[in-house]
Amino acid sequence: MGIKVERADRIKNLPPYLFAAVDQKKLEALSRGVDVIDLGVGDPVEPTPRHIIDKLCEVAYDRANHRYPSYAGMMDFRAAIARWYEKKAGVKLDPETQVLALIGAKEGIGHTPFAFIDPGDIVLVPDPGYPVYRNCTLLAGGKPVPMPLLEENRFLPDLAAIDAHVGDKVKLMFLNYPNNPTGATATVEFFNEVVEFARSHNIIVCHDAPYLELVFGGYQAPSFLQAEGALEVGIEFYSFSKAYNMTGWRLGSAVGNEDVIAGLQRVKSNLDSGVFQAIQLAGIQALEGSQDCIARQNAIYQERRDILVEGLYGMGLQVEPPKATCYVWCRVPAGFSSAGFAAELIETIGVVVTPGSGFGENGEGYIRLSLTVETDRLKEAVRRMKTIKFDV
Ligand SMILES: *Cc1c(COP(=O)(O)O)cnc(C)c1O
Repeated sequence: MGIKVERADRIKNLPPYLFAAVDQKKLEALSRGVDVIDLGVGDPVEPTPRHIIDKLCEVAYDRANHRYPSYAGMMDFRAAIARWYEKKAGVKLDPETQVLALIGAKEGIGHTPFAFIDPGDIVLVPDPGYPVYRNCTLLAGGKPVPMPLLEENRFLPDLAAIDAHVGDKVKLMFLNYPNNPTGATATVEFFNEVVEFARSHNIIVCHDAPYLELVFGGYQAPSFLQAEGALEVGIEFYSFSKAYNMTGWRLGSAVGNEDVIAGLQRVKSNLDSGVFQAIQLAGIQALEGSQDCIARQNAIYQERRDILVEGLYGMGLQVEPPKATCYVWCRVPAGFSSAGFAAELIETIGVVVTPGSGFGENGEGYIRLSLTVETDRLKEAVRRMKTIKFDV
């Protein structure tokens, strides 16, 4: 007889990973023989650009890259990130102290509360939001407090509404613009207000920015580091995943306040041993090679956005086309919950979407549709959408 395997309390409190539940629904439909079109998960379907793969292949043979990498990342990699930020945001970063390599942004996000949160400390998390902010806070023993992102506030948190009592116990705040799941964007002026708020309550700001470059129609998304004084209050998570179709490679970076970077590095150096150097070198190639791939990919997403929005109109739904991200955030018809409408779409037209409620209480009443599916498949999904109609 085997031993009794009892899970720790800290993981008993965690919900199953959001997208695992979506995968389950999809599998059930597939087993019924449905030709399922998955608009649930945000994972680019196009390959990583050729010049980045070529670099990986070239440097993978170099035995110097086969040994343990440095914990913080190669100096050349950190310097390339710093150069990118100078060009993109006009911010000067010291690659030595203000830049850290990550095994994807998610890894850095997940480890950050372990560096700064003691049991009971409050972490402000966007709601709806990427589930990792809340769950990593719980894992670290902290208390996640949702900041509602409401349509009437253009999906920005109302900083003034954050209770002063809460404010003084808050240790850290997660933010994410361009936003997953709402597709909302923020201005530098908003980021300036965040810096002021963080200063007055002594809060570490962690801005998650994987969609900085995934923008349409000439819109330019600001980095949090463009805000006045941002380096005094927080960090930004940069990700290669969405901009360069590199989700599988696991590469990102944390940039900004050196005390925050140092704390995160302390945790990481005790848990992981850095990023495969060949992948860091390919990352430099991504940052410093031709950027045409980004414009090409964004044109693809923009076309898909317009196709999808037309399909949603066809079903009778109302939706605002996003200026950034690979998601469309859409209100469900009257009489449906998020999960109920997602189930309806799988059952009637074989289209998988993510229920907004999976991103938090304030996501109830919405679904998220992803643009990371082949355009032909999206057109097929839209063709099916036009066969059904709902009242809003
Ligand atoms: C996709 C995504 C990430 C994950 O980035 P990785 O670099 O692949 O870990 C982080 N945050 C948000 C909001 C995302 O949508």
